[in-house]
Amino acid sequence: MAKVMIIGAGGVGGVVAHKCAQLPEVFTDIVLASRTESKCKAIASQLSRPITTAQVNADNVPELVALLNREKPRLVINVALPYQDLTIMDACLEAGVHYLDTANYEPLDTAKFEYKWQWAYQEKFAAAGLMALLGSGFDPGATNMFTAYIAKHYFDEIHYLDIIDVNGGNHGYPFATNFNPEINIREVTAECRHWENGEFVTTPAMSLKQSFTCPEAVGTYDIYRMYHEELESLSKHFPDLKKAQFWMSFSDNHLKHLEVLGNVGMTRIDAVEYQGQQIVPIQFLKALLPDPSTLGPRTKGKTCIGCVVRGLKDGKEKTVYLYNICDHQDCYKEVQSQAISYTTGVPAMIGAKMMLENIWMKPGVWNMEQLDPDAFMADMNRYGLPWTVIEEPELKLL
Ligand code: NDP
Repeated sequence: MAKVMIIGAGGVGGVVAHKCAQLPEVFTDIVLASRTESKCKAIASQLSRPITTAQVNADNVPELVALLNREKPRLVINVALPYQDLTIMDACLEAGVHYLDTANYEPLDTAKFEYKWQWAYQEKFAAAGLMALLGSGFDPGATNMFTAYIAKHYFDEIHYLDIIDVNGGNHGYPFATNFNPEINIREVTAECRHWENGEFVTTPAMSLKQSFTCPEAVGTYDIYRMYHEELESLSKHFPDLKKAQFWMSFSDNHLKHLEVLGNVGMTRIDAVEYQGQQIVPIQFLKALLPDPSTLGPRTKGKTCIGCVVRGLKDGKEKTVYLYNICDHQDCYKEVQSQAISYTTGVPAMIGAKMMLENIWMKPGVWNMEQLDPDAFMADMNRYGLPWTVIEEPELKLL
């Protein structure tokens, strides 16, 4: 049906390449481009059919435009880093190519991710007849779809949303992050913000926790309230929400390492002069930590990510929980990756499929929940991320 270009050959890029290669009837040709072409070639060698690889610096718009004009894909799947979102969007506009990503733009020098920069492209994409789909990973991505699906099929009004992201996997290292360490540490050390009564309320990072027992014997974990980018778009697109919170599981050991690294300055994002060289501590730390794309063979256990929604149906209060459980080792067997990259890469492939099959294709810049969830949710079940709904779950949440 169409040629697609994947930009970024990390943990998520590898999964997207595998999943697109499994669907030749949709993704007839695949180009995998990244800063280090050898990583693209290593992924290409794992796939069931040949793909093209390329070297590109995605911070450089003319370089990107030249590559897009040469390869002429219909769609770019951006799974490089959030810092490259705007340059890739600019290049897509110039070359006339549709766009999809999994994380919102973040300036390199400020750990503050917001949709405003990408929402500002709405008119440009609409005028060019191009579509940009924002945040088509798991969270954001599947969690936006879960919320939209629950709102559509179970409620007249949704009032309370809790997104709960549990990673019950263990990689055996004293400390490692399960996606890009720099992006991950910037995210979890940021101040917490949640939506309440029409505004975002700020609280210190990791200052509220509770215990959560996952369904299907995945286990009981401490989950911490933190800011996550889908809260910004969901609170905008579901104006009836009185409160929306995001929770993620962390072990005491993981948090202790983060605290110590923070205390000694290793998570700083500003440059420090060391022996005549400018060094950004968090980037140096990334070089020391295990590469998340290598965690696959050693990570065991499951993830359990879902949404708990409370609201009104026919004037009565009700609660609905929709979740997916994903097994790290099953992912590794299928695509040689752990479940965090898998749960991100599969919705990226499905979002791209929705666009290329014209189920979602419409000019402009869109968050996932602005599009109809049904076909996407059916494909989650077909392509490796089956979900379950529980009405009136036995849950007590803060
Ligand atoms: P990795 O660090 O493993 O991979 C990033 C890739 O992008 C690397 O191959 C890297 O190249 C490449 N890259 C970085 N900068 C450039 C550049 N300037 N030009 C070209 N290529 C570049 O990250 P992940 O795969 O873990 O994450 C990828 C994206 O997915 C991130 O944006 C992350 O925020 C997002 N994500 C979203 C989730 C969701 O649920 N929505 C969950 C997890 C991740 P090199 O190898 O040379 O460094």
